[in-house]
Amino acid sequence: MITPHRRPRIAVHKFSSCDGCQLAFLNLGEPLLALAESVDILHFAEAGPVDESADVDIAFIEGSVATSADAARLRGIRERSRHVVTIGACATAGGLQALRNLADSEAWIEGIYARPEDIDLMADSTPIAKTIRVDLELWGCPVNGEQVLGVTQALLAGHLPHVDHAAVCTECKRRQTVCVMVARGTPCLGPVTSTGCGAICPQLQRGCYACYGPAVQANVAALSSYLVDTGMPADEIARRLLFINNQAPPFLDAGREWQARVIQRSGGEETS
Ligand code: SF4
Ligand code: SF4
Repeated sequence: MITPHRRPRIAVHKFSSCDGCQLAFLNLGEPLLALAESVDILHFAEAGPVDESADVDIAFIEGSVATSADAARLRGIRERSRHVVTIGACATAGGLQALRNLADSEAWIEGIYARPEDIDLMADSTPIAKTIRVDLELWGCPVNGEQVLGVTQALLAGHLPHVDHAAVCTECKRRQTVCVMVARGTPCLGPVTSTGCGAICPQLQRGCYACYGPAVQANVAALSSYLVDTGMPADEIARRLLFINNQAPPFLDAGREWQARVIQRSGGEETS
């Protein structure tokens, strides 16, 4: 039970992940130190404090659910937390490790581990919201530390913040970044991807890799047709869609369609 009239409490929990989202939070540096002056950070293994069973006001969760032990731990966290916020593609959409959901994961396990019988995995790698109720989802690979900080401040002030899911293209326009797809013919998933990163890749003359998940009203079919017109092969389109956020429904559905076309064209043989 959370008692009133005390400093707010925060925890940052890790599930199946690479720790990159915790690092993004940690790399905030001085703003994080300033936050630590007004809250108690009770669990954040990457930063030092470890008390996983603490009652908290905000529990940030990095990583996806991969084992039944993960699911049980997660339910306990939900019971002890006023707000649960997922941070990053792994926690919000299953992450890169959910690529095994699309493959013969048992064959992968047998190919990788010396003692596959010791590996106790659930059938799929799933986002946190498939196991517990989540109050807010922050996308990204990694998540944007500034966005995590802003959400923390808003929740501590008593309101659930709005997270912008307009397309990355809107961010390019705001920053007056020249469009890499129009000007250089570089494939870019920005038209169907949610902003949040600040359009970092287009600013560096690279196409967007869809780290921040689907934008609102993402028209994946229209973008895919455009990519075909630029000469991108079907298997490459499928790979781009089934990447960091491969379990996000607009990317999963379109990516599977493109995979099916590849299989059909190869006479029914899966090409990888
Ligand atoms: S979302 Fe990306 S950076 Fe964050 S934990 Fe997962 S793989 Fe790492
Ligand atoms: S570079 Fe990509 S994200 Fe930016 S405007 Fe062009 S298509 Fe959109």
